[in-house]
This record gives sequence, C-alpha cells and structure tokens, in this order.
Amino acid sequence: MDLTILYRGPLASCDYDCPYCPFAKRRDTGEQLRSDRAALERFTAWAAAQTGDRLSVLFTPWGEGLVRSWYRKALVELSRLPHIGRVAIQTNLSGRTGWLAGAERDRVALWCTYHPGQTPYERFLGRCRELTALGVRYSVGVVGLDEHLEEARRLRSALPPEVYLWVNAAEGQTYTDEQAARWTDLDPLFPYSRHPHRSAGLPCRTGESVVSVDGDGTVRRCHFVRAELGNLYDGSYRDSLGPRGCPRDVCDCHIGYVHLETLPLYDVFAGGVLERIPTRPVRIPAPDGLVPPDPDGITFPDPARRTLPFVSR
Ligand code: SF4
Ligand code: SF4
Repeated sequence: MDLTILYRGPLASCDYDCPYCPFAKRRDTGEQLRSDRAALERFTAWAAAQTGDRLSVLFTPWGEGLVRSWYRKALVELSRLPHIGRVAIQTNLSGRTGWLAGAERDRVALWCTYHPGQTPYERFLGRCRELTALGVRYSVGVVGLDEHLEEARRLRSALPPEVYLWVNAAEGQTYTDEQAARWTDLDPLFPYSRHPHRSAGLPCRTGESVVSVDGDGTVRRCHFVRAELGNLYDGSYRDSLGPRGCPRDVCDCHIGYVHLETLPLYDVFAGGVLERIPTRPVRIPAPDGLVPPDPDGITFPDPARRTLPFVSR
C-alpha cells in the first residue's frame, strides 16, 4: 500500500512570535515536551516497521519542530529507510542545518516559511544557501501580507531560480486583482491560494491514500475533518480507507486542497507534493474562476513572463 501521512503530535510551542499565529512564543511544559517526544518516537518506530508499505510523511507540527532534537532525528532516520518515499517537515528554518548531512538527500525535504520581522533577512537567506549547499530539497514561502511584499521580492531575486517560492493568502484577507497580481508575479500558483476551494462532496485523496495522524495514533482523513477512521497502532484504520467526498464546504489550506482530485495539483507538484515543490517546467491550468492568457495555461518557470498569468473572468 502507498500511504501519505500528515503527522501532527502534541507539540504546540514556537521560538517565533508571528502576529498572525496562535502558537507564537508559546511554551510547552517539560511534561508536554516529553509527551511529544514519546509520541513522535512511537510514530517513527511504527513507520520504520512498515516495510511492506511505501510511506511518505509530512510533519506538520503546531509550532516549530526542528528546534527539538527528536524531530531532527526522526527525519534523518526515516530518510534512510528504502520504503520511505519522502519525509518532510514544515519549518520556520530558525535552527541550524548541519544535521541534514546525515539524512538521505533523495528522501528528505523541508517546507520552509520565511517570517519577516521574526528573523533577519540575511540569516534566513543564509539558511537557504546552506540547504542548497547540502543538496537538500526545499521550498520557501511567505504569508501574503502587504508588509511582507518587499522582503518576499528580495528573497525571490536572491534565491536560485530552481527554488520555488510560494505565497499563502493571509487568512481572512480579500485580495483585489491588483494585489493578487503582485503576489502572482512572485508565485504563479498564488491564484490557487487566493480563494478557498469549494470542496463539498468532491473527491479528495484524503481518507484513501492520504491520512492525518495525531500523537495518540488517531487517524483522520485530514487535519480539517474531525471524524476518526481508526487508530494507526492497532491497525483499525486500514479497513476504513477508501474513496469518499469531502464533508466540508470549502478547503482553504494548501496541505488539504493539494489532495483534491478536482484540482490539477498532483500534476503540478508531481514528485514534490509533500514539500510543495512543483515539477518544472509544468503547464499550469487556471484555477476556478480564472482564465489563462493562452488556452493551455502558462509554463512555469518562465523568466520572460513575470506578469499576472491568470485574470478574472
Ligand atoms: S513560525 Fe510558524 S508556528 Fe511559529 S509563530 Fe510563526 S507562524 Fe506560528
Ligand atoms: S478537500 Fe480539504 S477539507 Fe475536504 S477532505 Fe480534502 S483535505 Fe479535508
């Protein structure tokens, strides 16, 4: 069986203080950290033992995981196992990167978010350069707030062209076409993030080939649907896997809607769905409600076209 797992344990603390985040500067107690470590080590041991399956794992902690040794160890250990297709983590990249030298570069990857105001630009860029030098796969992104625009542009121009810079629409923000054009100039896929995706009843790979797992091993289809499919550790989830429509009205988070079968994002991100790295070059079809400037969409990256690739109908 091929299974993608989005793991989120009890960790809920972060070394940053982003104004748009509920986990900013939260501290876990020693007991909470011990629980998080035990849960992660249990999960890692389970994943290591599933040699009859092919697993891909994305750690999506609340807060920051890579400042904790057990997340770094889990990434290194899982990356070395032949039945693990990919192991990735969402991170603010605040920590050192040298430990990645011990990881299998074909399998490990980082989904990095730059938070201007929380870390000096040069330090973040330096960390990206370390990843490039180490040969580690990574994407970099920002939240599309006006105050981030200049820093995002600076970062885009400094990063190697092969490093994808994504932009997430800020929660609750409505973008004018003009604002959206500015962000789309940096990330041609921004139109997919700009509006929530209608998902009610639509086929979504979660619950079939993708699941969410928490620290107790409770399996759900995704992070956004609370209904339980069973438990990872007693194997009870297996019989529940199967195709099913989305029970929510909309899906507005990339780690969810990337799995919607009605969107073309598995083709766009083929080989890099978990760490959000697009295949290149790729023809990108227009999202709902938008039309491309030519019938086939655009080719990304296209250095000659740094303008809005999609326009409102
Ligand atoms: S780095 Fe991420 S988890 Fe930490 S405060 Fe900022 S948004 Fe929240
Ligand atoms: S579309 Fe989004 S909310 Fe619905 S099942 Fe898929 S990931 Fe979950």
